[in-house]
Amino acid sequence: MIPAVMPTYARADLAFVRGEGAYLFTDDGRRFLDFGSGIAVAILGHCHPHLVQAVQAQAARLWHTSNLYHIPEQTRLAERLVANTFADTVFFCNSGAEAVEGSLKVVRKYQHDTGHPERYRVITFANAFHGRTLATISAAGRSKYLKGFEPAVDGFDQVSFRSLNEARTAISDTTAGILVEPIQGEGGIIEAEVEFLQGLRAMADEYGLLLALDEVQTGMGRTGKLFAHEAASVRPDVMAVAKGLAGGFPIGAVLATEKAAQGMTAGTHGSTFGGNPLAMAAANATLDVVLGKGFLDSVVTTGRALRGRLDGLVARHPKVFEGVRGRGLMLGLKCVGSSGDFVERLYRHGLLTVPAADNVVRLLPPLIIGAAEIDEALTKLAQAAGEAV
Ligand SMILES: *Cc1c(COP(=O)(O)O)cnc(C)c1O
Repeated sequence: MIPAVMPTYARADLAFVRGEGAYLFTDDGRRFLDFGSGIAVAILGHCHPHLVQAVQAQAARLWHTSNLYHIPEQTRLAERLVANTFADTVFFCNSGAEAVEGSLKVVRKYQHDTGHPERYRVITFANAFHGRTLATISAAGRSKYLKGFEPAVDGFDQVSFRSLNEARTAISDTTAGILVEPIQGEGGIIEAEVEFLQGLRAMADEYGLLLALDEVQTGMGRTGKLFAHEAASVRPDVMAVAKGLAGGFPIGAVLATEKAAQGMTAGTHGSTFGGNPLAMAAANATLDVVLGKGFLDSVVTTGRALRGRLDGLVARHPKVFEGVRGRGLMLGLKCVGSSGDFVERLYRHGLLTVPAADNVVRLLPPLIIGAAEIDEALTKLAQAAGEAV
């Protein structure tokens, strides 16, 4: 008999009922160190007092009104994102996939409204992940997610990640834009080089295309910058943001320049829940902390410390690990064997991590961790590695 919850996930046999900082507690009282953050979402850890207070206060005041009316908390969040990024304007939705779809709509509408309705195709990259809607599984083009859901949505041309030549060759008279993750997360923590991102920017300018970034996973301080592209000094035209934006409350956002969003006039896009007061309160509170003095610098420092310890771990266990990759607190441990198996082994040691493609174990801890959590994680990783051979 099919379970009441549609069985689309292969879940671990764990259920958490309480969280505090970097720790989660099961119903039977076991404590886990959370180095997954609900897949890069709980960036301030669980039940951060400032977020709890902000959401509780908003919940007692007003939850939802719809976008038929002005939402002051939404205006405030948009203005803060505009003040701190390349963007001039923001559309709010409820998830990463929706933020990517919204970005794709901005790309098409821009070309349509600037005299190029024939330009609708978007160049995307092999091994990408952009979400699970029909358009986003088509954009990523991975058979693992598309199989059984064909035909794919038309309008995407995949080329190899990090190949500027292939991207250039794929440009045609019908190309509207380029969509890329600065670091492929789901794909196994694979970083785009600075030259690759800068090359895509130059190519987009040369051919009149828009550059859309998917920073759903890399954003909100995860890499030590507010957004990962800042490290490459590349300014996108459009960007999808979600996961960490509200510290655990469902949210998505499409950030765009005024030029890119010129066609996004009243009636062109919408969302019932998008930007509702409760989500906005959570996101504004998250931003209070992330934009606080020294916060992003501390992510860089903590990331370096964790990275250094992981390099040591890999050196001591060459039969288990091949290497470490990533940036800030978005790190991947490349395993010799199955990363899924290693993630399961880590459950027994009380450490939560996230598997990714290419046998990589993703370490995506809350950005608030310190030396004690790093020590504890390394002890658990070393114990699991010791058993793995
Ligand atoms: C998680 C993720 C998405 C999809 O986000 P959802 O909220 O699950 O729809 C899209 N792009 C990237 C890079 C992601 O990591």
